[in-house]
Amino acid sequence: MSNSGGGHLSRRALIAGAGVVAAGGLMGQERAAGASAGPSAAVRIGPGDVRYENLVRGNNFRFTGQPDEIRVATSADQVVRAVGDAVRAGRRIAVRSGGHCFENLTAAPEVRTLLDLSAMNDVGFDERRQAFSVQPGATLGQVYRALCAGWGVTIPGGGCPEVGAGGHIAGGGYGPLSRRYGAVVDHLYGVEVVVVGKDGKARVVVATREEDDPFRELWWAHTGGGGGNFGVVTKYWLRSPGGGHLLPPVPRNMVQHVVF
Ligand SMILES: Cc1cc2nc3c(=O)[nH]c(=O)nc-3n(C[C@H](O)[C@H](O)[C@H](O)COP(=O)(O)OP(=O)(O)OC[C@H]3O[C@@H](n4cnc5c(N)ncnc54)[C@H](O)[C@@H]3O)c2cc1C
Repeated sequence: MSNSGGGHLSRRALIAGAGVVAAGGLMGQERAAGASAGPSAAVRIGPGDVRYENLVRGNNFRFTGQPDEIRVATSADQVVRAVGDAVRAGRRIAVRSGGHCFENLTAAPEVRTLLDLSAMNDVGFDERRQAFSVQPGATLGQVYRALCAGWGVTIPGGGCPEVGAGGHIAGGGYGPLSRRYGAVVDHLYGVEVVVVGKDGKARVVVATREEDDPFRELWWAHTGGGGGNFGVVTKYWLRSPGGGHLLPPVPRNMVQHVVF
């Protein structure tokens, strides 16, 4: 677990212990704030809260931010609301999923709202889009295990099982299988992402690689440029281009084995 050292509770265990409930996915192409079907607001944790010290740190203890609030979201609608609140209040936002950032991008002193998506960690298959869906808080270990056990497929991602899909996929994602299958983003079909429009309102947009998708450029912006530049990803869809396998099959043998 990311924060298991030094006697700290892990972030994931803490969130699970708080009884946060995940809400359902989105069906529409675009949904504006206020359409929440599940719990309407993300858990809000301030510096005076006993949970703050545990949640404020990511994996990299070199950098620790001092945000005014940590919002622990469990649905895209909660992310929309948290982003909308921050924009209205003029608070700079950073989003953290797996907490394995090398730099202080989520812990910069200017960050006033830290959006924690580690509890959004579902991995599944979306029949409608015929693609595997991965929420950003899923660790690579969770993704590999779910894809392997459920469907016998995998992605050519990194070897550290605790890295989060949230930052890893938008950054490209490479690992031991990359010489054979490319980077993870070569298999990225689409993203569900919370963006802020010209009107200053936060909304959910689905962007895919389909040629006629009006948001195709937004999909493209998530194929290696890194996370947090264009919006908050609340779901990735993975499907290899062309026909054949939906994703690469799991290798028959593994020379190196990671524990997760
Ligand atoms: C021990 C270790 C091993 C690694 N091994 C590999 C490897 O083998 N291959 C490889 O390709 N990379 C590897 N990396 C790099 C890793 O993929 C990146 O650091 C990645 O960005 C981490 O993602 P995260 O969600 O865990 O981190 P976070 O700290 O949560 O986020 C990292 C960045 O992505 C942004 N971000 C996170 N979630 C979202 C979201 N939902 N929407 C928008 N932006 C978001 C954050 O704002 C931040 O800028 C490794 C990193 C570490 C620390």
